[in-house]
Amino acid sequence: MLQSSSLTDNRQLTTDDCLAHRNIPITIVGGGIHGVSIALRLLREMPTAARHLAILDRHPQPLTQWRDKTKRQGMTFLRSPAVHHITPDALGIVEYAEHHNRMSELAPPYAQPSTQLFWDFCNDALAELTEHQVYYQFEVVKLRWDKGAGPFPFRLISTSNEGFRSSCVILAIGADDCAYIPPEFVQWQRQAPDRVIHASQFTVSKEFRTAPTRIVIVGGGLTAGTLAKSLSERGHSVALIARKQLRTEQFDFPPVWLGPKALAEFASETDLGRRYEIIQQNTGEGSITPDIMEALINAPNIDLYPETCIRNIVSVDRKGLKVETTQGVIRGVSHVILATGYQFNLRRYSFLKELITQHQIPLVRGLPCLDDDLQLHPIQNLFCSGTIAQLQIGPASGNIAGANLAYERLREKLLLYL
Ligand SMILES: Cc1cc2nc3c(=O)[nH]c(=O)nc-3n(C[C@H](O)[C@H](O)[C@H](O)COP(=O)(O)OP(=O)(O)OC[C@H]3O[C@@H](n4cnc5c(N)ncnc54)[C@H](O)[C@@H]3O)c2cc1C
Repeated sequence: MLQSSSLTDNRQLTTDDCLAHRNIPITIVGGGIHGVSIALRLLREMPTAARHLAILDRHPQPLTQWRDKTKRQGMTFLRSPAVHHITPDALGIVEYAEHHNRMSELAPPYAQPSTQLFWDFCNDALAELTEHQVYYQFEVVKLRWDKGAGPFPFRLISTSNEGFRSSCVILAIGADDCAYIPPEFVQWQRQAPDRVIHASQFTVSKEFRTAPTRIVIVGGGLTAGTLAKSLSERGHSVALIARKQLRTEQFDFPPVWLGPKALAEFASETDLGRRYEIIQQNTGEGSITPDIMEALINAPNIDLYPETCIRNIVSVDRKGLKVETTQGVIRGVSHVILATGYQFNLRRYSFLKELITQHQIPLVRGLPCLDDDLQLHPIQNLFCSGTIAQLQIGPASGNIAGANLAYERLREKLLLYL
């Protein structure tokens, strides 16, 4: 059943406003930060867009994935400043905080909002989607493009085999389906799947509610740092192992990447492989914000192992693992958590498999080649926003601010459908 969903009160509306067999001008696949940001910008710019727009997501509520992952890691403040959020008015969160007497939830030095403030602000903004009934719980299992099939050449099919047609589609599918497990960990994970876990697969408060244990976290980015802090605050002893020196940075990419100069230089690079390298150089293997780094250094139950690699993980008995590192052996480990991030690869999205093969979509390091309007070559009117668009938008692409950069590029093409 394809249903338009109520957003703010966690009840699902049962409505006849079903998508099946309809023709929808603009379809956004993904109701995360990017999909919702683009929808809100369109609706603000052109309120009649509601009649022409559908946002699809596998979850019953928008932003579910975002809310879940921040909660599960125990993240208390955003990394990005208050001006980066899901609506087009830059000062939206600041005004919301003022209005609700919550200015103390904007942290210095860049007014980073608390996770709760950010969520409450988003929840307020999501009322606009409720009002317009444009959000649908709909997991896309197949996307087809019938070139030359008239004004609605895309066909989207759901898990219950219902389908509808669309003139244009925006892929705002995030990167969560592309959790990265370094090759050497694959066999160790196979041997102890309940104990060697990717960070996206567990919840701090739920899985470690038991007596304090010893936990190894692998990674040098903010996810590794936030998890280490959250677990240490719950009394666990944590070893944080990073291949390189830990780096302290407020942001996860240099802010120049939000400005026109860096983006123009990026655009002038015609070799897409080289563009990928530029992104890697600017995001590196991750960094940790100053406040979290201070907490890591001061926590009595966190040991930091920079410039360290894991050589082997052995299951000793039912109770624990022995982790052999280049700096020594850690015994009695209950879990190894891989905070090793995501590596986007379009091939990992099964609903796109047929499309990729049939239209021989070229990929560079798993990423599609997009034109300046973020149109996915060679499919006409298939657009992208988020990590998927990084070869055009650069290092900021997957972040909250990347949604605004993407909208600026898509805007004109989208307005043609309204
Ligand atoms: C813990 C954490 C903290 C972060 N903090 C910040 C921060 O402070 N500032 C910042 O700028 N960035 C931050 N980021 C990075 C980034 O902003 C987020 O990852 C953000 O969620 C990306 O938005 P998105 O819409 O691209 O992806 P998502 O939020 O992952 O949304 C993608 C959506 O697509 C849906 N989807 C995918 N495939 C299908 C399908 N076939 N059918 C239907 N639906 C589908 C998914 O269900 C999902 O809801 C953080 C990331 C993490 C993990």
